[in-house]
Amino acid sequence: MPERWDVIVAGGGTAGLAAARSASKEGGKVLLLELRAHLGPPAHSGSLVSSDAGILVKRAVAQRLREIKLHAPHRELTVDYDRGMIVDLGRIDEILAAEVAENGGEIWLNAPVKSLLMEDGVVRGVHIEAGGWSENIRGEVVVDATGARGDMSCLFLSEVLRKGWKREFLAFYNEYLMVNASDEKSAEVFFDSYLAPGGHAWVYPLTKGLAVSGICGLRIHPDAALDEFLGRREIKRLTRAVPIAASRGQLPLEGPLSQTCGDGILAAGGAAGQIYPLSGQGLQYSLRCGEIVGRVAVDAITEGDVSKERLSEYDRVWRSEFGRDFEIGKVIYSSLSVSRDQKMDALAAVLDGRPGLQRAFVDLFLGFNLASSARTLLKDEEISKIFGGEVIKLFNRR
Ligand SMILES: Cc1cc2nc3c(=O)[nH]c(=O)nc-3n(C[C@H](O)[C@H](O)[C@H](O)COP(=O)(O)OP(=O)(O)OC[C@H]3O[C@@H](n4cnc5c(N)ncnc54)[C@H](O)[C@@H]3O)c2cc1C
Repeated sequence: MPERWDVIVAGGGTAGLAAARSASKEGGKVLLLELRAHLGPPAHSGSLVSSDAGILVKRAVAQRLREIKLHAPHRELTVDYDRGMIVDLGRIDEILAAEVAENGGEIWLNAPVKSLLMEDGVVRGVHIEAGGWSENIRGEVVVDATGARGDMSCLFLSEVLRKGWKREFLAFYNEYLMVNASDEKSAEVFFDSYLAPGGHAWVYPLTKGLAVSGICGLRIHPDAALDEFLGRREIKRLTRAVPIAASRGQLPLEGPLSQTCGDGILAAGGAAGQIYPLSGQGLQYSLRCGEIVGRVAVDAITEGDVSKERLSEYDRVWRSEFGRDFEIGKVIYSSLSVSRDQKMDALAAVLDGRPGLQRAFVDLFLGFNLASSARTLLKDEEISKIFGGEVIKLFNRR
């Protein structure tokens, strides 16, 4: 075991594994530390991603969608939609972990990072603690990929920036993995401010007989909200289904941090707030940001300069690739948060019988083809009115 690692990655989710893969591929000595006893989600878990996703994501497809059912509070729409697929998150993590190992990277499980080792404001490594065991581990660069879900997440935010997520944008979620669901090739999304204020609920098909159903919203108790949602909605495909696993946590919807690196440290994925506010999508951003982080970290180490200034190359690259996505997502999210139920009903009414606009709305909600879907929608006068002045301004600006 090296006495000093090049790159220490805290967190073995998608962002951390992508960072470890990229840094180890670039020749860095990489150690990934995961707090739990396993990588990946606790059981199978499905993520809805664009069918344009890269090859890695395509290797983990669980279900290709044919349609998406949108449930506004008092109206429903079934949208013919083949641009989305449900991927098995655990499978993606397995593929990434195998590549980390192949490149010579090390993965330690049951290794919770308790704090960062700081010297004169520079991050020099991490302190891990589990049971009676504790250790300081030193490295040239630390990558915070601890996500945003739990109490031990977000080391960069809490210890370097000395902040927390803004409460008004902090959603809470619970998601069940369910067995004995009937098979359908559609995903369902529910907007209902009573059960999911500022958020939504969903049902996604996974592989045969499996489905995931979840809810996220502001100021909710997610466990009670999910049970109430399932009880009230009586979703047909879940009539005989039962949950066999649950995962809960928090999901910041405020958009990315204004700064994602410091001296000796970079943050990627949920820990950097790289989550699309409108729907909470983040898998693609985590993968890509992890990849950039790994490369920038190893280049900086090779040049002997791991200062914040040098590492800010990462910040520039990811913002130029998709910083605008988060900006658009946040403005639309804020606009639709006011009188949300009325707006979702009004949108469903305008979209009724207009398949092109329906697909553009689903794209916009999921963050796919964002700029073009928003422009398509804004050409319609009624939709422009529903979205409001701030959204229109955003598109008139450039
Ligand atoms: C309920 C839900 C549904 C979602 N659905 C979708 C979807 O359909 N499509 C989509 O694109 N995105 C979706 N997302 C978003 C997407 O899953 C996240 O953006 C993505 O998981 C972020 O990956 P990450 O690696 O940054 O964080 P995480 O996946 O949260 O991984 C963080 C890892 O770090 C570990 N960790 C935490 N603290 C420490 C510590 N102190 N020391 C060591 N390890 C630590 C955790 O155990 C975990 O393994 C969803 C998110 C949620 C919460």
